[in-house]
Amino acid sequence: MSLPSPTFNSETARHALWHYGADGGYQPGSFTQKLMVAIDAADVVNKARLRACYPELVDAMNLAANQEDGIRRLQQGLGVTVAPLKCRCGDEDGPFTEDGLCEACERRAAVGGVA
Ligand SMILES: [Zn+2]
Repeated sequence: MSLPSPTFNSETARHALWHYGADGGYQPGSFTQKLMVAIDAADVVNKARLRACYPELVDAMNLAANQEDGIRRLQQGLGVTVAPLKCRCGDEDGPFTEDGLCEACERRAAVGGVA
């Protein structure tokens, strides 16, 4: 079984990106915010019910949350360019800390030195 390919406008795509904390997101009104929390929490049956009323939002969120590279595809559809993660030392391999440091720089920072 294959679902029809998702169709949603750019505003909905930005709302989904905002919900997942991705670059290019745009905060919707409080109703849509709560609706997205409900969609996230819904089981399969309830998600299908919500999709009957809000197909665009459910599809956009499904793409962002459940498809490999979904966030990036939403961003590309919007023309959002996201700089690749890179440490201040130039390391692009990662993994990175939440501060954007590579492991080597994090170790240097942890011992109190300036990397
Ligand atoms: Zn580094």
